[in-house]
Amino acid sequence: MPSIRQLFLSHVAKTNEMPLMLEVDHAKGIFIYDTTGKKYYDMNSGISVSSLGHCHPAVVDAVTEQVQKHMHTMVYGEHIHSPQAKYAGLLTAQLADGLDWVYFVMTGTETVEVAMKMVRKYTGRTEIFSCAGAYHGSTYGAEALRSDIEFTMNFAPGVPGVRHIGFNNEADLEKITTKTAAVIVEPVQAESGVIPPVDDYLIKLKTRCEEVGALLVLDEIQTGFGRTGHLFAHQKYNVTPDILLVAKSMGGGMPIGALVSSEEIFSSMIKKPALGHITTFGGHPVSCAAAYATLSTILDEDLPSKVLGKEKLILEQLKHPIIREVRSSGMMMAVELTKRKYLKHVVAKCMELGLIVDWFLFNDRSFRVAPPLIITDEQIVEACSILRKAMDYAEE
Ligand code: PMP
Repeated sequence: MPSIRQLFLSHVAKTNEMPLMLEVDHAKGIFIYDTTGKKYYDMNSGISVSSLGHCHPAVVDAVTEQVQKHMHTMVYGEHIHSPQAKYAGLLTAQLADGLDWVYFVMTGTETVEVAMKMVRKYTGRTEIFSCAGAYHGSTYGAEALRSDIEFTMNFAPGVPGVRHIGFNNEADLEKITTKTAAVIVEPVQAESGVIPPVDDYLIKLKTRCEEVGALLVLDEIQTGFGRTGHLFAHQKYNVTPDILLVAKSMGGGMPIGALVSSEEIFSSMIKKPALGHITTFGGHPVSCAAAYATLSTILDEDLPSKVLGKEKLILEQLKHPIIREVRSSGMMMAVELTKRKYLKHVVAKCMELGLIVDWFLFNDRSFRVAPPLIITDEQIVEACSILRKAMDYAEE
């Protein structure tokens, strides 16, 4: 009988870099346990997914209750499911007017695909802007938003009509014109290594979009649900998008994503001739029940307001000679090292010492620190001491 590890290596397809090879047995709170019983601090939350930690009791209870009632019954939108309706009500209550309709999908990338279709249908324009260094997903539409041709050229031809502006580049805002359907942007660039917006860049971007009648789409797939110290980053940076995209931590570990916008913008999708957008599993009752428990817990425990204090503590604790700079927006952090060659050593040494961090897609000098929002001050101090130790080894 081959081992799980052998089966994984022989039969589970890899379409990206070699995996970290941690053989997961179970996970609870901020810890992941491997099959040998070794415990790891999870300091990246599965890339900003497990904000409530792993297997939060409120999420486990909600999922357990829902699977016993019903799972899939009929293709999205044709039956009324209470988890969907209740969640849409709770989410929109946290948002500004105009963000009051929710369309459910399963992943972050899908929210981007639907948004790209919707902005073209609603405005009747084709041009879409994204920012250099952005990551919005790996399907054809989302991939067209990437600026780095090296990543996309092997799959050409891609989706036409996409242009790029520099993130935080005010002069580039002039490129957005009356031909532009929308600008799709992350409020804090994630995979380029945590680049927060400068000054009132996002407000200026929104003003420019309004001047020319283009829509502002904010990808809060990493920044959403408290990660930056506000429930949503757009609330932190004082700008309301026309379309908000959320996923990742939304489901407390269950797969779900959503677009939030106005009735007016969504209604363009129904206008003939078009099938709008449909998807079999969007708004799955179990995922929506998990999302409701997740958001209720975030609100009840007022987690976003506690993030800034924890960010400060991590910044104080993360001092080391091989750190060049730490960039952060709340508990979304990039630790940039003085030399590129240290990066993989630090990540590997952390694994050995029982702590998980990883690297970014488009930054080969920084590692990600984005622990579950429920991490305690004591755990932060312990985890940072392991991180410093790992960096000591890299220096040698
Ligand atoms: N947008 C951003 C900002 C992301 O970080 C990601 C995933 N890393 C996506 C979109 C795509 O989400 P998913 O992997 O759930 O499709």
